[in-house]
Amino acid sequence: MSERAEAIVDLTVIEANLRSLQRPGVLTMAVVKADAYGHGAIPVARAARRAGAEWLGVALPSEALALRRAGDTGPILAWLYPPGDPNLVACVRADVDLNVGAVWAVDEVAAAARAAGKRARVHLKVDTGLGRGGALPHTFDDILTAVLAHRSDVDVVGIWSHLASGEVAGAVETSEQIAAFDEALSLAQRRGIEPPLRHLANSGGTLTNAGTHFDLVRLGIAMYGVPPGPQVDMAGLRPAMTLRASLASVKRVPPGHGVSYGLTWRAATETTLALVPLGYADGIPRTAVDPQVSVGGERVPVVGRIAMDQFVVDVGDRDVAPGDEVLVWGPGDAGEPTAQDWATWDGTIGYEIVTRLGSRVPRRYLGDV
Ligand SMILES: *Cc1c(COP(=O)(O)O)cnc(C)c1O
Repeated sequence: MSERAEAIVDLTVIEANLRSLQRPGVLTMAVVKADAYGHGAIPVARAARRAGAEWLGVALPSEALALRRAGDTGPILAWLYPPGDPNLVACVRADVDLNVGAVWAVDEVAAAARAAGKRARVHLKVDTGLGRGGALPHTFDDILTAVLAHRSDVDVVGIWSHLASGEVAGAVETSEQIAAFDEALSLAQRRGIEPPLRHLANSGGTLTNAGTHFDLVRLGIAMYGVPPGPQVDMAGLRPAMTLRASLASVKRVPPGHGVSYGLTWRAATETTLALVPLGYADGIPRTAVDPQVSVGGERVPVVGRIAMDQFVVDVGDRDVAPGDEVLVWGPGDAGEPTAQDWATWDGTIGYEIVTRLGSRVPRRYLGDV
């Protein structure tokens, strides 16, 4: 019996990656948002804790609560919610730390604390240049004022920010962000707010610039073994996910035979076409240009349009049969492409390739789940 397709996620690789990313004297936050970048939040969170991650990070309060329901009891930070998020009270009750990057958020979290009958733990976010969430340096003082006014409801655990170009070694904007961050830290200190955790780095910052490490680094993509940018040295890190499928059809076709919607490709000579039962509904990017997969240890081209559930590869005169294994992406050991290769073919980043792997593809785990 063979699965149509499956994503094999090697949790021992995630643990090894995380261990090799740990920096002495710096705490580690394993970022498991978006179902651990498509790898599976709960098993990855457990692997990260085994590997010594003191913290877990997620975008949404609901993601943090799902980790709590699965039994995780360690520190977790959730950073993205609009006013009125229905999960804030539950987060305070469950000891989930919350980001606050605006005065309204301080008010919301303080109200949630009163409703929960418990002090809320917050990390104050500064916008040091990225232009997303967080207070600009000149409005950061208003957040500090709000926090001091809500002293009885809110504990400040951290001050933090996020990098725009962490994966670019020597980027001038990273130096500017570090300087803006230092300024915000001094301002908070002058107002008597000196939390134990200052954090700025993502995977890119962790790998390329020790000046971004401060007290804690937030590690996402590198933990999964996917590079945060094309230039980043990933020595010692390995992709944790392999996407495999079983060929669903194999047939000889005459010259001139077309393939898939719009017949954008036609066989130049007699050849063998094999059908891979994965499509854009599973996260295979339809817009990738000249992608390849591996069959029997050899690269073969994807031909014609990638459809919702399936795509076709031209295997030439190779001897393949229905049920044979095809590797779509993986660590590259058997000559298969990596998620980063697919990112290059699709003009995107490896993050998007692994994160968009659809829920229809079962995940199978190696290592302890
Ligand atoms: C996603 C995210 C991270 C992790 O980024 P990577 O580049 O995957 O390491 C860190 N911090 C914040 C705020 C994020 O949104």
